[in-house]
Amino acid sequence: MENTRNTKQKQHILSILSTAKRPMSINEIYSCCIETYPRIAKSTIYRTIDSLIKQNLIDKYYLSDNELFYQIKDNSTEHKHYVICNSCKKIFHLPNCPIHSIQDSLSEYGFDVTDHYIQISGICKECRKKADT
Ligand SMILES: [Zn+2]
Ligand SMILES: [Zn+2]
Repeated sequence: MENTRNTKQKQHILSILSTAKRPMSINEIYSCCIETYPRIAKSTIYRTIDSLIKQNLIDKYYLSDNELFYQIKDNSTEHKHYVICNSCKKIFHLPNCPIHSIQDSLSEYGFDVTDHYIQISGICKECRKKADT
């Protein structure tokens, strides 16, 4: 059973993610949440995120080694992957999914891919420019 406070926090996190329109880390979500709920615990955010994932309302992404990112699912069926800049942590999305062709060849072997993750990190153009000067 869910109490109303949980529901409110859930709505709040969803609205943060829908405003951001990009994947956010727990720390980013947390710092947005404490503006409205100054006493919210990080564990509450983890719990809320977990249940949003179970409800299929948000997606999780592995972008850098020790951090997960979360993004709201939009209505489009478009499936996206992201890359992250190690330096400024800016997030870019891949123009297409390179896994789909792998998925097709796996299905020829009768293997059904139910989920996949791509983790790519590097240095963005802006940061490379800064490093050069
Ligand atoms: Zn960068
Ligand atoms: Zn993909």
